[in-house]
Amino acid sequence: MNHNNIWVLYGDDPKSMVLEILNKVQPEKNLDKDSNIGIKPNLVVAKPSTSGATTSPELVEGIIEYFQSKGYMNISILEGSWIGDRTSRAFRICGYEDISDRYNVPLIDLQKDGSIEKEVDGLRLNICRSISQIDYLINVPVLKGHCQTNITCALKNLKGCIPNSEKRRFHTMGLHKPIAYLSKAIRQDLIVVDGIMGDLNFEEGGNPVRMNRVLVGTDPVMMDSYAADLLGFDLEDVPYIKMAEDIGAGKTDWSGSVIELNSNEGIKINTDKGRVRQFTRYIEERDACSACYGSLIHALDRMQGSGQLNRVKSKFYIGQHYKGKILDTGTGIGNCARGCPDYVPGCPPTARDILRHFQKN
Ligand code: SF4
Repeated sequence: MNHNNIWVLYGDDPKSMVLEILNKVQPEKNLDKDSNIGIKPNLVVAKPSTSGATTSPELVEGIIEYFQSKGYMNISILEGSWIGDRTSRAFRICGYEDISDRYNVPLIDLQKDGSIEKEVDGLRLNICRSISQIDYLINVPVLKGHCQTNITCALKNLKGCIPNSEKRRFHTMGLHKPIAYLSKAIRQDLIVVDGIMGDLNFEEGGNPVRMNRVLVGTDPVMMDSYAADLLGFDLEDVPYIKMAEDIGAGKTDWSGSVIELNSNEGIKINTDKGRVRQFTRYIEERDACSACYGSLIHALDRMQGSGQLNRVKSKFYIGQHYKGKILDTGTGIGNCARGCPDYVPGCPPTARDILRHFQKN
């Protein structure tokens, strides 16, 4: 497995998608068969993954099936939900008790765990004892927005691996620095990002945006830098990413590192949920791929936040129906709509590509 890459597969069947990527990249090469493998999903609250808050159980099933098929039988799932919910409830409601029974994989509730202290570049952090005993950690975050840090992905997902008292202390420390330093206190060996459906801007879900992709890599800094771009943010908007790079936890530059294993054509979109629906009046959509549409929704949300959306005069055209057509109005989103007077290239473009286009024009 090349540690400088991020592999991307588009689709809407997380289990078969993760199996396809893992079979391709074979991340377990040189890993001892007796290794204690830990899977850390994002079960921040007890809500199903369709809410946009939590990791799809089918994705975790695929990871377990892959490693068990290679002879790794010492696997556990570890999580500590946020202070406002109980992990045991999240395990049940999110479908993880069922996975535990079917695959004989124990669930470890980190809210009930002991802790150990680790020092990272002069900063003392408390992490859960069970996490410190894992040989190979698979981080399985959700790609989603966050009301305080703008995004949450690989780096911030490790906050579920610290005791509740430490979670409270992180907030008194301004969140960004301790999140960045946590990435050196806990090594993540493999990152599998659930980019199927993540919330627009709240970690607890409610406004899910279908992005229909799974991302696999090993560098949490690069993964989060790419995730920020996908959701329409600059690095300066998510300070902990650069802080993590500065202490040597990874690199932010993902240019030339993203390998798309398929095209996302033909995967249906879903526009009828929560705040996402309000944006449909700005959009002329015909046969758009969900990954493309998801980028546009995230970009429009950013534009609304900055007041830019009020100044937009014409509609956004998106979808394969517009391929090869010449239009005399609107802004095209993606290569299919290049026949508009103005268009954002890409297949799909990221939300950041769309925002950059409007900042330039
Ligand atoms: S540009 Fe067209 S084919 Fe490419 S992702 Fe967008 S809608 Fe799909």
